[in-house]
Amino acid sequence: MTDTQHCGYVALVGRPNVGKSTLLNHLVGRKLAITSRKPQTTRHNLLGVHTEGSAQALIVDTPGIHDPGSRAMNRYLVRTATSVLQDVDVVVQVVERIRITDDDRLVMGHVAKSRAVRICAINKVDELDDRAKLLPQIEALHALGVFGEIVPISALKNDNLDRLKAVVLARLPPGPHLFPPDQITDRSERFMAGEIVREKLMRRVGDELPYHATVSIEGFRAKSGIVEIDATIHVERDGQKAIVIGSGGARLKSIGQDARADIERLLGRKVMLRLWVKVRPGWSANDSALRRMGYD
Ligand code: GDP
Ligand code: MG
Repeated sequence: MTDTQHCGYVALVGRPNVGKSTLLNHLVGRKLAITSRKPQTTRHNLLGVHTEGSAQALIVDTPGIHDPGSRAMNRYLVRTATSVLQDVDVVVQVVERIRITDDDRLVMGHVAKSRAVRICAINKVDELDDRAKLLPQIEALHALGVFGEIVPISALKNDNLDRLKAVVLARLPPGPHLFPPDQITDRSERFMAGEIVREKLMRRVGDELPYHATVSIEGFRAKSGIVEIDATIHVERDGQKAIVIGSGGARLKSIGQDARADIERLLGRKVMLRLWVKVRPGWSANDSALRRMGYD
């Protein structure tokens, strides 16, 4: 590689749950994106920055692309993910080993229309007993003519990610770096704190609250050595509020303890976290309510 700087945008796309956010975290080497077994965990396009020598990749994690239902939140998620494809330099579509679904094919349709360099990452190969089983899938993917490169990986186990990084970095266009080499995201500490609370919420009550909960940060104050954070969990119904709080407040307390530990690790400072739960009927079905909550 020469001394000329290279810099470009890389989008991670794919149907929900294939491992895009896990991949972003392992590519930048720190936990940026929240993950869970629940689809719709990722709601925002989040930028991770990976700098290696003269190349800087600005990696966008996207909400999963899938068949848009009728609800406003669903439409928002699909719009954010597909609009990213218009203006990135490299697209990495993540699929799961062996199993290619209709939703995967739907995403490929969008990817095929993008002018970006197109790469397919076959994730979760750690779940295979025999790697030879991948060969027919790799051939079938090649035959589609959509992807220039197909790279089997395990995002979770860090397997073959060096190869994926090399393939991506080699495709970035010449251009000056946009971030200092030690910066790993464009998001504020305040934003990251809200996402961490949401992750703990999704992990503890995700099955009972598919779309209906979101988190806003009302206060974020740094005082001598301690950061005081006020966060509100918004739900749609009284019954959901009761689920989040749990009997005797036990569930809310454990969400708060887990979140505080992660936020302290992220900020490298002591944190005092106060959590509130509020009922706001019908917010996720309503576009203007979505905008007020910051999804625009
Ligand atoms: P996203 O919806 O595409 O962003 O998927 P996530 O990154 O949130 O991951 C969805 C689930 O798949 C989580 O439970 C991850 O731990 C799991 N996962 C992600 N990558 C791998 C992998 O390489 N191997 C295995 N076995 N599981 C993975
Ligand atoms: Mg995700």
